[in-house]
Amino acid sequence: MGIKENLDTVKSRMEKAIQTCGREVSEVKLIAVSKTKPLAALEEAYRYGCRDFGENKVQELVNKYEALPKDIRWHMIGHLQRNKVKYIVDKVFLIHSVDSLRLAQEIEKEAAKKNITVDILVEVNVAEEESKFGTTVEEVRSLVEEIAKLPHVRVKGLMTIAPYVEDSEENRPYFEKLKQIYVDIIHKNIDNVFMEELSMGMTGDYEVAITEGATYIRVGTGIFGEREYTAI
Ligand SMILES: *Cc1c(COP(=O)(O)O)cnc(C)c1O
Repeated sequence: MGIKENLDTVKSRMEKAIQTCGREVSEVKLIAVSKTKPLAALEEAYRYGCRDFGENKVQELVNKYEALPKDIRWHMIGHLQRNKVKYIVDKVFLIHSVDSLRLAQEIEKEAAKKNITVDILVEVNVAEEESKFGTTVEEVRSLVEEIAKLPHVRVKGLMTIAPYVEDSEENRPYFEKLKQIYVDIIHKNIDNVFMEELSMGMTGDYEVAITEGATYIRVGTGIFGEREYTAI
């Protein structure tokens, strides 16, 4: 199947999930996760209306940013090293993967230099998988409070990567938990925190994530097909 057919399928499944839980279509945004994919694939998705793209490597994001139209919103969804922050702060629409104060401080430093404000999500390792980045469920609230003190960084919400599972229902408790933490933080009314976005759900589980409150879903394989890691 081609990208157009895949996109149509994802969008209709999204809409169905949105309807089953009584939400509005405008509340859930689709990020086309284009990591490892060639420019031609992104250009095709762009022609079919995609404006949000997700990448997990700094160099790849920068290369694609430079080659593609400027109305694309770039989402950094992968682990971000502090020494690479400077290359992307003025190119990304949203950094989904902030999981430490030190990383947030580095973003603050580079954003201040460029006199911009950078929107970020705090990544939470809800499922406590050892292989995954992200702060812990115990630490997320205090981390958000600390990041909120940085004037050039704006916390816009939370992100999680759920485990790879056969049955997407197994991930429902993790999505539910992230939503709970999100609501808790909203109730704290922290200055400079704008809890609006919940980035959760991938190809295998986005419908479950939508019914648990996702505002961003990140879909790669479901749009572009399997990734060929050896090619890059
Ligand atoms: C690769 C990736 C995705 C997309 O995964 P698919 O299963 O291909 O949809 C989503 N989020 C993150 C953080 C990723 O690294």
